[in-house]
This record gives sequence, structure tokens and C-alpha cells, in this order.
Amino acid sequence: MFCNYGFSWGGWHFGGWFMPGLFILIIIAIILWQMQKRPTVVAPHLSCPKCSGSVQASYFRCPHCGEALKHNCPNCSRIIEYDWQFCPYCNEHQTQQTSASGAPAK
Ligand SMILES: [Zn+2]
Ligand SMILES: [Zn+2]
Repeated sequence: MFCNYGFSWGGWHFGGWFMPGLFILIIIAIILWQMQKRPTVVAPHLSCPKCSGSVQASYFRCPHCGEALKHNCPNCSRIIEYDWQFCPYCNEHQTQQTSASGAPAK
């Protein structure tokens, strides 16, 4: 098996530098894999509906263009997200005020 120094398979020499080199490569791959799946706080990545800039869920206003990302429910006046279709507090249907397609017919 591999104890035979100079064992060849498919033209590749498994003896000498190849086995420790492969071992180091596996170690590096494991380290990179561990770095990739490090525990990070997964923040929902949202984009501004106006300028498509990156905004966070906690933002009230887009820092890039000033577009309001949250607004008050016209029914209960609670602060709701701009992309919510319904108010979770009073079940009021939200019209898309942030879209530039004009006033929706209701
Ligand atoms: Zn924006
Ligand atoms: Zn409401």
C-alpha cells in the first residue's frame, strides 16, 4: 500500500513530497472551511426600493437616497416595514406607497 515509498498511481508519485503536500492542502482546506462557516449574526440584507442600495432591517430611512424605509400604518399609526403588504397590528392592507407606479386603484 502507501508504505511502499515511490508508489505510483496514474502517473502520480505518492511518495516523497506529494503525500505531505496533500496533507497540508487538506489542513488548509479545513481551516478555510472553518473560517467560512464562522458564526456571524445573519442580518437580513435588504435593498432600498428606490436606489437599490444596501439597507438594514432596522433602518428607518435609506442612508443613500433618504427614501423612507418604514412608514406609519394609515389605520393604527404603528411603524411598519415598507415591504409589508399588511399591517400586522390591525390587519390593514398596505398600498405600495414607495413604488413609483402611481397611486394604486382601490
Ligand atoms: Zn435608497
Ligand atoms: Zn395598522
